[in-house]
Amino acid sequence: MSLTITVIGLGQMGGNMALTLKAAGFAVTGSDLFEAARSKLEGLGLAVVAPDALPVSDVYLLSLPTSAHVREVIEQSPGLLTLAPKGSVIVDTSTSDPAVSRELAEKVTAAGLLWLDAPVSGGPKGAASGKLGMLLGGDEATIERVTPMLEAMSAKRTHVGGPGSGHVVKLANNYLCAAHLITTAEAVAMAAKAGVGPAACLAGINSGSGRSAISEVNFPEWVLSERFDSGFTTGLMRKDLRLARDAAEQLGIPLPLLQAVVDAWHANPEQPTDSDDFNHITTSILARASQAESNQ
Ligand code: NAD
Repeated sequence: MSLTITVIGLGQMGGNMALTLKAAGFAVTGSDLFEAARSKLEGLGLAVVAPDALPVSDVYLLSLPTSAHVREVIEQSPGLLTLAPKGSVIVDTSTSDPAVSRELAEKVTAAGLLWLDAPVSGGPKGAASGKLGMLLGGDEATIERVTPMLEAMSAKRTHVGGPGSGHVVKLANNYLCAAHLITTAEAVAMAAKAGVGPAACLAGINSGSGRSAISEVNFPEWVLSERFDSGFTTGLMRKDLRLARDAAEQLGIPLPLLQAVVDAWHANPEQPTDSDDFNHITTSILARASQAESNQ
């Protein structure tokens, strides 16, 4: 049976996911609070509805900024808990607060619906090409039910546990990603000051054990090229870091390095601003090498 899908949240990620699913042959409808997002996607051939309307679907795929937005869509407007058909599946691809996801998953299940958290990696490019990485939190039967949809969206899926587990691991992943941007920028700045340029430094790191997706992908694609157009904002990464820090606090495990990374990302709200590309966190660190040079 081919799944009918409503995508709620047509931003950088949700808009591209909706188009990918439509191109793969699914019947897809999109909705977003903002008229501009709806008309952009409508112009690209997607069927769209107003945010208070809820088409009957097999799957409701959410791609929203935060858990507060996810809660609103599920509990209030349009209110999936009361309006979604029994047996339909709510798939939250947002990077959400795991504690809220677990609470919502219980309510969703009690209302006769199914829950899956499926946060993603790969950015708008991965969403547009159907090559996302997905972390899955839910039960096997629910995953099986939506597998054709997940296969059309992603190159790699990792089932990490029950409801909320996908969001737990996504926060762990984004903590490391945020840390690697800072540590890699510091390493590159140190090498530059010692007379080794960024490209040579990264080539060396990428042949050794200090490499990461940040040194292999982000630095060449967005930092050294100065394109800074990854499609993921600093504001969203700051949100993810606060969620990771809050989760650690609630669990009572002191993680001093996580706190240092949170502090570094929040040190100056103007540099980068919340709307800047998240790779810009490296800019002031890399500038230190040239400032140090000019002070000599
Ligand atoms: P975005 O801000 O581009 O899009 C979010 C969309 O949700 C906006 O169009 C907004 O109008 C809409 N929206 C907000 N509240 C709504 C509501 N109540 N009903 C309907 N629509 C609503 O954000 P994004 O970059 O697409 O990210 C979405 C989620 O995916 C976030 O949780 C983010 O952390 C995560 N994520 C983003 C990336 C990336 O590279 N951009 C990568 C991985 C994960």
